[in-house]
Amino acid sequence: MKRKTPQGRVILNSVREAGRPLTPLEIHSLASAKIPRLGIATTYRHIKVLAETEKIVAVDYPGQPPRYEWADGRDKVHFACRTCDKLFALEDPTENTPPSNVPKGFKVQGYEVMLYGTCPEC
Ligand SMILES: [Zn+2]
Repeated sequence: MKRKTPQGRVILNSVREAGRPLTPLEIHSLASAKIPRLGIATTYRHIKVLAETEKIVAVDYPGQPPRYEWADGRDKVHFACRTCDKLFALEDPTENTPPSNVPKGFKVQGYEVMLYGTCPEC
């Protein structure tokens, strides 16, 4: 009998192979291609654990459920397609320069850029 791949690993691989931030439902549909009868509650549980252990990171998309992407430690810019609502991770075209002209007393620890438009498929 073939050794069963742990569900969490299959879910992590699905996120990594997608190469773009996914909703929990998208993650579930990709992972259940490899794990028959994978429950949505189980998927959510694994997503929570993977996010807590920083294997994946949540990407906020205002007005939408959070998406999750593989935490590869690289800074990325996200692109939201306004037609199909998919998020994409792009190499940072601003060359990772956080805004420096913040008011006195504020310390920048990170920044996020979200671009909007239409994706190549749309
Ligand atoms: Zn699109």
